[in-house]
Amino acid sequence: MNTTTPWIVHKFGGSSVADADCFRRVADILESEREPRLAVVLSAARGVTDALLNLVALAERQDSQIRAEIAALRARHAKIAETLLAPASAQLYLASFDRDCHDIEGILHTVQLTRSAARNVSDLIAGYGELWSTKLFHRYLEERGQRGAVQWIDARQVLVVEWGALGPAVQWQESREKLHKGLPPPSPPPQAGEGKGGGVSTLVITGFIASDRRGVQTTLGRNGSDFSGSIFGALLDAKEIQIWTDVDGVLSADPRRVPDATVIDSLSYNEAMELAYFGAKVIHPQTMAPAVGRDIPIWIRNTFAPQKPGTLICAHPKSNLPVKGITNIEQIALINIEGAGMIGVPGTAHRLFGALREEGISVILISQGSSEHSICCAIPQDQSERAAAVVREAFRRELKEGQIQSVDVDPDMAILAVVGDGMAGMPGVAAKVFGALGEASINIRAIAQGASERNISVVVDGKHATRALRAVHAGFYLSPHTLSIGVIGPGTVGRVLLDQLASQSARLREQFNLDMRVRGILASKRMLLSSQALDLAHWRDELETRSVPANLDQFADHVRVDYLPHTVIIDCTASEQIGRRYQDWLSRGVHIVTPNKKANSAELSYYRSLREARRSSGARYLYEATVGAGLPVIQTLRDLRETGDDITSIEGIFSGTLAYLFNVYDGSAAFSQIVRDARQRGYTEPDPRDDLSGMDVARKLIILGREMGLELDLADVEVESLVPAGLEAGSIEDFLERLPHHDAGMRARLEAARGRNKVLRYVGRLDAQGKATVGLVELDTKHAFANIALTDNVVRFATRRYCDNPLIVQGPGAGPEVTAGGVFADLLRLATYLGARL
Ligand code: ADP
Ligand code: ASP
Ligand code: MG
Repeated sequence: MNTTTPWIVHKFGGSSVADADCFRRVADILESEREPRLAVVLSAARGVTDALLNLVALAERQDSQIRAEIAALRARHAKIAETLLAPASAQLYLASFDRDCHDIEGILHTVQLTRSAARNVSDLIAGYGELWSTKLFHRYLEERGQRGAVQWIDARQVLVVEWGALGPAVQWQESREKLHKGLPPPSPPPQAGEGKGGGVSTLVITGFIASDRRGVQTTLGRNGSDFSGSIFGALLDAKEIQIWTDVDGVLSADPRRVPDATVIDSLSYNEAMELAYFGAKVIHPQTMAPAVGRDIPIWIRNTFAPQKPGTLICAHPKSNLPVKGITNIEQIALINIEGAGMIGVPGTAHRLFGALREEGISVILISQGSSEHSICCAIPQDQSERAAAVVREAFRRELKEGQIQSVDVDPDMAILAVVGDGMAGMPGVAAKVFGALGEASINIRAIAQGASERNISVVVDGKHATRALRAVHAGFYLSPHTLSIGVIGPGTVGRVLLDQLASQSARLREQFNLDMRVRGILASKRMLLSSQALDLAHWRDELETRSVPANLDQFADHVRVDYLPHTVIIDCTASEQIGRRYQDWLSRGVHIVTPNKKANSAELSYYRSLREARRSSGARYLYEATVGAGLPVIQTLRDLRETGDDITSIEGIFSGTLAYLFNVYDGSAAFSQIVRDARQRGYTEPDPRDDLSGMDVARKLIILGREMGLELDLADVEVESLVPAGLEAGSIEDFLERLPHHDAGMRARLEAARGRNKVLRYVGRLDAQGKATVGLVELDTKHAFANIALTDNVVRFATRRYCDNPLIVQGPGAGPEVTAGGVFADLLRLATYLGARL
């Protein structure tokens, strides 16, 4: 044999050999391979190892299901054999299968009697799956005749490992000798001219199993076939190791948790190892070790899409993204030891980990503050009770004497690990991880970062594991920022907002990686819920046909799902009752965007509780559209204050309705007529008294005043109502009927103003001392407020910097389009706060 002809190792996982079609696919892949020397390592067919181990468990429980389970395993393999193999070959295969079953029954019988299986017994049983899959495939590949002679290798005959504390240690020298002794002489090429370097050789090798030095069968641990693949790669000095599975490569996160995960094109061995250690099941962590020393590249590829390139794992990957992937390990417990007595005392950690080691409890993560006041470590959840007991025992004296205050266990935790070589020396990565978690209102219980800086691990509540994963994944632009959105009040403003979202969402997703998912719409009587994003082109029809009775609690629970990192409720109503819910929602981490003034102008104690809820949960509350609709009024005020300016006063026309009434009222028509007219055009509330009372303007002043830090309540605002005395109660019609009786009064005020060369405007005013007034005033005809159009709002900020010439914000301040636009702008602002880059 020409020893310079290199081997390529292909390993196929259980999902790649699950049924007859899978076997066919694997054979196709191998036959399309031009390389002459292939070593093919196979796992057991999907689920078979689990089923075999379950047999052992059944035997220990003396369960009578064993025979039926064995029969099911046989039926599954028989079906594949009968589909793929020539009848005689299938028969031979099944005859040997039956002998195995007979042996298994014998072994299990002993287990049933003793009610417990020694480790080597379960190893022996577990290993049959690989024997069955490889024997079958060996026959099949040979029958297809495209790869010349195919040799079956039972890894138990060649691979020697010794189990130690760190797992199975390969006995390289011994294994190499055994393997090379048994390697085939070169076989002739199947067709003249094919196969370079002296002939075609194909080995079919059992994954997962091996023997120890005494020749007793053992395994490489669960999912160990990847390890087998790389061990055989090293033993054969392979040029390349290809690991075939059911996904397109190593993904930036587990695709079952993060559907937007993307394929990583290349990874270093170390990165792959960290990802694997922290739960990326696609590859076994030990797989890398044999390849590293010999610099053998490992490819992860998809059996079901062999045309795709897959992921390359090698010493010097091309990609230089700082973060490559994010994984999590669930079902862990956190043990925390706390006590002032540990400070400066050497050996506490030693005793803690010594005690855990004695019990065979593996420690996944360790974190200790430099004060040495506490140490915590993460361990597998199912060992937490035992762990707590041994640790308490180990520190019994200190606990009794008070040097150690407590040994606590948090049983339901998860670790989230962010992995990437490029994080080393790059500031800001940890901040981004913590920021993304903070924005998603996820509390971090413990933190660990290896000195390699290749991995930042955090421990979070197990309930939030998936949401945490998604938030951090989105934080690094590895997937779109996803907002789960609920819209309340699909009326005038809400309807337009939904249409604006419908027309913009594709663009936002494409350009900015922003995924706005409206998952619920709540109207006054009905609501529409969907687990996916609603199709906003058809929400009206769906609200008619698919809705259920409205229920606010149910609605909020639906919109706030754990698997999406962020939830926002958009309240487009003017309802006080909904405004009262904000505190609860904010404290549960739900962001709120709204044009509804009720919550922010409610009594001061409620307003304070909203701020508090927001502060404690980290949720955002945006309400730019409560004042001046889409105009940047609140944002301007904030910018002024945040940059250190002092506000002297804010004045303005804050009501589009009242602006309109006085812009139009020139005496040629009666005031009552103008009100009627405005109402018909939709410029007023259904009941015009809601505008004329001035309360709406007063609420806006309160919102601005509180934004300035003033402690204002509605009662502090002096309001001049334009609803004549006596007309406050009664029906709308009644009011409109009787309003003309008061036209003369309004007319007199207009004439008086005109006599002084002035105009009438309905103005709100607020100063730094908290004096707030709302009412009709006379203004100079040149005044900025005297020269606005239609329903324009105008707001004038007098500040220390803008003192001679005030800062004016002016423009349409009412109407569904601009109000919805203001709400939409807040929604995008929220997305940027959450890390999206617009
Ligand atoms: P095989 O049977 O081929 O050994 P496994 O089921 O052991 O396959 O591993 C592949 C699975 O690993 C994928 O189907 C995927 O669900 C899961 N997985 C978890 N994390 C990742 C990740 N980061 N990248 C790719 N797959 C992952
Ligand atoms: N069949 C073994 C298991 O399920 C090994 C493997 O599939 O990698 O653990
Ligand atoms: Mg696997």
